Amino acid sequence: MKYGIIGGGPAGLYAAYLLTQAGIDCSLFDHQIPYEKPCGGGITSKAFTEFDVLKDLPTFSKVIHEFRFIAPNNREVKVFCKHPLQIVSRKALSEYMLQKCQRVNVKWISEEVKKIEVKSDIFQVYTHLGRVYTFDFIIGADGAQGISRRFLGAPPFLKNRYSGIGYYIDGLHESEAVIKFYKKRTGYLWVFPRQDHSSVGFFSLAGSFSKELAYNTVKEFLHTYYPMFEINPKRYYSATIPIIWRWSREQIQGRNWALIGDAGGFTDPITGEGIYYAFKSAACLADAILQNEVESYYERCSSIIQELQKSASIFPKFYRTWFTNAMVLMAQKSPFIRKVLVDLILGQQPYTTLKSTLKKNIPLVMRELVGIR
Ligand SMILES: Cc1cc2nc3c(=O)[nH]c(=O)nc-3n(C[C@H](O)[C@H](O)[C@H](O)COP(=O)(O)OP(=O)(O)OC[C@H]3O[C@@H](n4cnc5c(N)ncnc54)[C@H](O)[C@@H]3O)c2cc1C
Repeated sequence: MKYGIIGGGPAGLYAAYLLTQAGIDCSLFDHQIPYEKPCGGGITSKAFTEFDVLKDLPTFSKVIHEFRFIAPNNREVKVFCKHPLQIVSRKALSEYMLQKCQRVNVKWISEEVKKIEVKSDIFQVYTHLGRVYTFDFIIGADGAQGISRRFLGAPPFLKNRYSGIGYYIDGLHESEAVIKFYKKRTGYLWVFPRQDHSSVGFFSLAGSFSKELAYNTVKEFLHTYYPMFEINPKRYYSATIPIIWRWSREQIQGRNWALIGDAGGFTDPITGEGIYYAFKSAACLADAILQNEVESYYERCSSIIQELQKSASIFPKFYRTWFTNAMVLMAQKSPFIRKVLVDLILGQQPYTTLKSTLKKNIPLVMRELVGIR
């Protein structure tokens, strides 16, 4: 069986690494790597706990133990987190994973895939150099705007998705990550410090804001909070984050094909986090292939799919102005709410058990809110 992987972001590289290491014949297509993918670059600690391959990455990343949340009404709260967020340049992550892949001799073809055709159960992959490669199984890992989803026949992503615009700011070396919520806005502005610069940007539902609005929002924010720093309106990056509203098998797998990472829609609609899910979906697929049970890929992803489905069902409510204002206000007064908030952002508090966690602790929160310990 020959496997073709389209796309060498974290999802494709990790799948190629796991499969090649196990002796599976696979080829990875990517014409861009290693490169700085437009992204905040925040990786939650559960990724480091779960994926051994990342164990040497911390040397390249900035470890963040403190978050500052700013509400639409500008009230703010600082929260210390036990499980840190590690922030890495995407080029460094790309180089790091590529090196891991090269050590196990992954076949990397530095060509852009233009078309995929299926003829009597054989996939033909056409690249920009006019070459044609054949495979028995295709793994689509070409991100939110890739082509494999369309050619493999998975349902297209709905128009309702996130769009993000970001800037790199040299010299901004904060020790905290900042998340600022806005009035009537689904999404947030982020400041993620990296080793030698910070990634600052704004994401919200695609079509609900313009490049100018994103620029003005970030500019105004910097003017208020970091007046020493400016952004160049011409030096921005933008990209989209898919949202799957209703999960089903057809979204991620079909006859002799599977989608992982952003191409499969594996991103959290509340936080926009996708790197962890890229690794996780790649691991689930590789396990399924190695155990000769590729049809169980969807089931193997069930724990993350449940989380992402829950997140999709609550995120429009999460971003209501009164809610983000109340959340920051309560977090100022209640250590328990502070912990839940940061655990939620860092993926330590599952969305599926959020309601019961809060319900169980109402008396404690009430005591904390009125100042009785
Ligand atoms: C503005 C923004 C900020 C974000 N911040 C964060 C964050 O802080 N933390 C986090 O966890 N997630 C974040 N995300 C999400 C994260 O970037 C993605 O979820 C993650 O990169 C998905 O990995 P992937 O491997 O699936 O896809 P990608 O990283 O998008 O990689 C896809 C790869 O496919 C290749 N490719 C595409 N088309 C072809 C083709 N035709 N032929 C060959 N190769 C192809 C590309 O070159 C690319 O290397 C952010 C996203 C955006 C847009």
